[in-house]
Amino acid sequence: MKLFKRARIRYILIRHAIPHDLWEEATEQVTVFGGLSAVEKAHLRELATLFLYEKHFSGAQGVEVTPDMRVLVASQACLLILTLGMEYFDGWREVVIYPGAFRVSRDQMDEQGIVHHEDRALSGESWSRGPVILSWDDIQQERLGNHPGRNVILHEFSHKLDMLNGKANGMPPLHSGMDRHQWTLAFSEAYRQLQNSLEHHHRPCINPYAATNPAEFFAVVCEYFFSAPEILEQNCPDVYRQLRLYYRQDPLFRLKDRMIDTKL
Ligand SMILES: [Zn+2]
Repeated sequence: MKLFKRARIRYILIRHAIPHDLWEEATEQVTVFGGLSAVEKAHLRELATLFLYEKHFSGAQGVEVTPDMRVLVASQACLLILTLGMEYFDGWREVVIYPGAFRVSRDQMDEQGIVHHEDRALSGESWSRGPVILSWDDIQQERLGNHPGRNVILHEFSHKLDMLNGKANGMPPLHSGMDRHQWTLAFSEAYRQLQNSLEHHHRPCINPYAATNPAEFFAVVCEYFFSAPEILEQNCPDVYRQLRLYYRQDPLFRLKDRMIDTKL
């Protein structure tokens, strides 16, 4: 079975490889790829190839999904699983792209079983075992890193990782060797501090949307981890450390490294 799976992956990588020019054009200047080594970039391209083979893209409200839109989404989604593997995105298939923020109007039940009506505009949404929905307008604005800590692709696909062990609750299945207690301590303390600063009308150190619930907190800190790691490390060092263990990546280190290289 393993042999068959490996042969299938090899077949997809050879027959459906993302063309070099398309890859370069779609991924150049994407700030979250800063500091990646040539080997990491090559691996990212392979993962994105598998992603595009396995997932189905569609456009809503007249959006025509072009090859470079697909590559831009796939490549950033796969940054999350660069060291984890494609199986972390198993169990769902659809990616839907809206032209901009989309309105949702529905009833939703909270953890206490109370139904609330929500009517608001979203830049993305991630359904358990269902589609990931994204606003193209937000993706384009965030591509160049003009909004540190904001990246709707990383946000929505990190919800997918969180939901690997059921409902999104801010704790994805941890790797063996990781300590659930340390994770809970780091995240609950940072979450409490954020809520505290909002209650006292202090300027929050990260996007206040993270205070919505633990699942949104996890998705928001994942955005920071890759797109503004210095802000996360400075304000929530224990959370940064746990995410470094979970993602098996150190964006802060590689960005610093790259900056030193550029200066030399
Ligand atoms: Zn979210």
